[in-house]
Amino acid sequence: EKLSMNEIRELYLSFFESKGHLRLPSFSLIPKNDKSLLLINSGMAPLKPYFTGKETPPCKRVTTCQKCIRTPDIERVGKTARHGTFFEMLGNFSFGDYFKKEVIPWAWELTTKVYKLPEDRLWITIYEEDEEAFEIWRQVGVPEDRIIRRGKEDNFWEIGTGPCGPCSELYYDRGEKRGKCGKAHCHMFHGIVRGKEVDNEVVDENICEDCDRFLEFWNLVFTQYDKDEAGNYNPLPNPNIDTGMGLERMAVIIQDVESIFEVDIIKAIMDHISDMVGIKYGEDPSKDVSLRVITDHIRGITFMISDGILPSNEGRGYVLRRIIRRAARHGRLLGLNEPFLFKVCQKVIEQYRGTYKELENKSDYIKRVIKREEERFAATIEQGLNILDQYVDELLQHGYSVLSGEKAFKLYDTYGFPLDLTKEILAEKGFSVDEEAFNELMREQKERARAHAIADASLWSLDDTKEQFAKVKTQFVGYEQYEAEAKVL
Ligand code: ATP
Ligand code: MG
Ligand code: MG
Ligand code: MG
Repeated sequence: EKLSMNEIRELYLSFFESKGHLRLPSFSLIPKNDKSLLLINSGMAPLKPYFTGKETPPCKRVTTCQKCIRTPDIERVGKTARHGTFFEMLGNFSFGDYFKKEVIPWAWELTTKVYKLPEDRLWITIYEEDEEAFEIWRQVGVPEDRIIRRGKEDNFWEIGTGPCGPCSELYYDRGEKRGKCGKAHCHMFHGIVRGKEVDNEVVDENICEDCDRFLEFWNLVFTQYDKDEAGNYNPLPNPNIDTGMGLERMAVIIQDVESIFEVDIIKAIMDHISDMVGIKYGEDPSKDVSLRVITDHIRGITFMISDGILPSNEGRGYVLRRIIRRAARHGRLLGLNEPFLFKVCQKVIEQYRGTYKELENKSDYIKRVIKREEERFAATIEQGLNILDQYVDELLQHGYSVLSGEKAFKLYDTYGFPLDLTKEILAEKGFSVDEEAFNELMREQKERARAHAIADASLWSLDDTKEQFAKVKTQFVGYEQYEAEAKVL
């Protein structure tokens, strides 16, 4: 009886069609003529030429469901309820056509009348100076105390100079049962009431980032200014609208489940994986994280390959490589030492091919690409295992019980051997690792990486050899730009 992901997607697109929008299919994950972005990370990204006026849109109102990849969220995947590296973003766009007084009532209508979310669970954020948005939210019936004003950092969208403007976001209160932080002020709109005092405590903006009781599901961006070099915000004669709603997040709310991994389509993929490994979801928290990570990554992997990306040591290919290897590593944590991802992609294709025709007839190809990369990774891991065996021999010889941080770090850095794997293998033999020293070396490496302007040092070391690592470092300026931009969006 609860709406499925396919139904939620369809309802969104047909709702905006009924408001005069042209429905376009998802664009490829590979950006066209856009050097600033490695992979499409929002519904708006492939439409940029229409927003800047470089190209004429086929219609002034467009609606899409866009496949997105956000690697900057990778560390949060499996840990928060709401983040995937792969997700679908529903959006409606106005190229100099309608503006706030249309889009806000439509957003409210879709949310409360079509998706039927209870009004008293909805919270709104606006940019603190956006009186216009405040008034319109009041008019549709949102009580004043559930419209939260936030500063530039949270509710103003801009990248350098050019088109920019305030935004307004919709949040859903999932209730105390979903509040993980347990802080008293979480009962307020925690994480939103930044810097304010609640219950005699100043709310720390970081405390509740991962609590997920209040779930952000829709962002409405009002592009109404053109910022010039001097820093002036000049009103645009024809302002634009750009919105993004996470399909998986709306499904979490409507289906009333804990996380995006439990909504229908994604649950089917995760169930498939847990059957394969013979591990039941919900019995061991750390194994659950691995199940969720694999479930997320295999979706991104399948879609990236179907859009023509191949694993390599640079650019998009490197993003794909590290996602495959990260998933393979989590497979190992679950006891899967043989290639397995190439089998799981079939399930992803089955689940999505009705919506994404590009997956059709590609399953053999996608499987082959994944399998080859899994085999390469297995060979790297094999090297590391041999070295670790030598270390174990030495520990036995000397009668020591702790592996030094240096050695563990060498395994990690040179052979792509994750610390948790080293720890696990040593623990089986009664040894441990000097984790403090390891973490210190890790921290130093991250510092160095930052100095080299590399965004995510921890994943670089998954690469095959030091030599390639060094090569990638110098080739990879575009990647850093990508990470930087994704943060702003
Ligand atoms: P969050 O603060 O939760 O990280 P965000 O503010 O970065 O989200 P936006 O850039 O505003 O997200 O993107 C618009 C919408 O896309 C969000 O409201 C959310 O529904 C969805 N979304 C964003 N990032 C993700 C993700 N990593 N996984 C799933 N959905 C996402
Ligand atoms: Mg985010
Ligand atoms: Mg946000
Ligand atoms: Mg947002």
